[in-house]
Amino acid sequence: MLKLAVVGKDVSQSQSPQMHTFILQRLGVPCSYEKVSVPPEAFASRAEELFRTYDGFCVTIPFKAEIIPYLKELRGDAPAFGAVNTVRAKERAGYNTDGFGFLLMLENAGVSVKGKTVLLLGAGGAGRSCVKKLTEAGASVSVYERNAERLRAVYEELGGFTPLGELPCKPFDVAINCTGIGMHDTVGISPAPRELLAQCGVAVDLIYVPAESEFLRLAREAGKRTVNGAAMLFYQAYYGDCIFLERQPDADEARELWLKYSEENG
Ligand code: NAP
Repeated sequence: MLKLAVVGKDVSQSQSPQMHTFILQRLGVPCSYEKVSVPPEAFASRAEELFRTYDGFCVTIPFKAEIIPYLKELRGDAPAFGAVNTVRAKERAGYNTDGFGFLLMLENAGVSVKGKTVLLLGAGGAGRSCVKKLTEAGASVSVYERNAERLRAVYEELGGFTPLGELPCKPFDVAINCTGIGMHDTVGISPAPRELLAQCGVAVDLIYVPAESEFLRLAREAGKRTVNGAAMLFYQAYYGDCIFLERQPDADEARELWLKYSEENG
């Protein structure tokens, strides 16, 4: 029996248990999956207990960087992203599965980025992971971020993209919202205006609640294809489970599991 958990400041609404349990059941692996909410000030005193209690755990806001000093090794994308969302407890090894989830979401939605122009909004934690994956995949990426200092730091670190201090109004093949604007207390707000989205080919939003953000609604109304972040969340969970099981991830298997999961869970 694999003993797993998701750890964050408030994981009461997390979809992780449902997704991981679904995936592991379909892969024939019995598991338990707990939600562990930890106040930020208590993280240091609770961290060791996580390694003793679980075979593996997922880490979410705001502990993706805080967990790093407790690990012996960062693997895969984790060193480059500077953030860990998946931990194999016994080896104290940290991984980041967001990039895999992001690229598979695009691929399975039929959004090809190689040689395409991409406008990405928001160079925070998720945004910089996506920028790295997009440039590696051969896209010509422009990044708009309202925090000039952060944009400069990400540019110095990753390079390979065009930094934008202002939102342009010109066509891009793909526009991607990584700002988080459109969820929680910003529901109904889009970080890009209709005029810009009307010039872009496909609109992608990492937000999955609401299922259609204002960014996607404006794009859909302009007749554009839209993709929300629900599949990304599922694919990064699938990849995390492959890490726990030391199993090679398979894009076709991931897609089949996602189709079944979304069918069963609306
Ligand atoms: P974050 O670290 O807070 O990054 C958001 C960035 O966007 C910040 O740099 C922020 O700047 C900037 N920003 C905010 N409003 C902006 C605007 N109007 N124009 C330009 N830049 C703006 O957040 P995150 O962890 O990267 O998450 C971003 C989004 O991705 C969230 O919606 C999250 O739920 C989603 N996400 C989804 C998945 C998935 O699996 N689907 C995975 C990871 C993340 P300030 O600091 O100035 O606000």
